[in-house]
Amino acid sequence: MSSLLLSPSDLLDQISTGFYRRGVDYQRSGRVLSSATQHRGWSAIVTGRVSGSGDHVYTVYVQLERDAHDFVSVDGDCSCPVGYNCKHVVAVLLEEAQKRDAGTAVGPGEGGAASPDNTLLETWAS
Ligand SMILES: [Zn+2]
Repeated sequence: MSSLLLSPSDLLDQISTGFYRRGVDYQRSGRVLSSATQHRGWSAIVTGRVSGSGDHVYTVYVQLERDAHDFVSVDGDCSCPVGYNCKHVVAVLLEEAQKRDAGTAVGPGEGGAASPDNTLLETWAS
């Protein structure tokens, strides 16, 4: 009940299908250089760096917030020309979801206030 789940449908509601697909490709091809999650109660901050086209490295900063209807809003800023909820944002979110799956996600304690059953991202990729 205190989990913060971001489902693929939440993402697709807020991010265009084209960006979503390209984000999946980016994540699969290992373009996410680093990523991290900080839980803050009902919200979370996900940050990361993504290798873009050419030599560019883009910085991603995503705010996730869950409302009373369990809908998780995605507010993703990126340093690329698109700048908002782009493929880089998708790639970083997927990378974090995969880390959770592998059991190496940033756990509670590192940010302080998170409860043990706080879950940021539902794992869906494949
Ligand atoms: Zn971007």
